Amino acid sequence: MELPSNSDLLASLKNARIKPRIIRELRYVPSEILHPESRDFLAIMNKSHSEGVLLFEDLFYPFSLTKKAASSTGRTDGIICDLCATWQRGNNAARIAFAKGDRRSVSYLVCADLDCSLHVRDMTPESKLSRVQLREHVAPDGRIERLHTNLSRLLQ
Ligand SMILES: [Zn+2]
Repeated sequence: MELPSNSDLLASLKNARIKPRIIRELRYVPSEILHPESRDFLAIMNKSHSEGVLLFEDLFYPFSLTKKAASSTGRTDGIICDLCATWQRGNNAARIAFAKGDRRSVSYLVCADLDCSLHVRDMTPESKLSRVQLREHVAPDGRIERLHTNLSRLLQ
């Protein structure tokens, strides 16, 4: 996707009525975003990666992100990302929550780095590991399509 400039992003965020507090805390440095041409969505986060906005098909979705907590044994179990279906070790797993109005929110398990677009394209070590773990034979095109389908469904 084409990355918005800082000023365009700011204008769009205001336009989308994203809370000023969230906008203020976002850290957006386009030059630091790897492989923008290979991204289906953009996750712009605050410094501590606890909150952000997800930009998908010209719409913004504010979210909060929490790293998956370790179990009582001190281990974090692996997950399969609800967005991109990549298997991730527990230390790269997180829970993302989207506000749904009426103070309700829905949450999903996701890749903590939110680099789902790169994982489905086999551009990361995690994607290679996932292929081994899941023994899944889906070509990148199919995985990209699945990511789009999941995003459209989960972000409704
Ligand atoms: Zn993912």
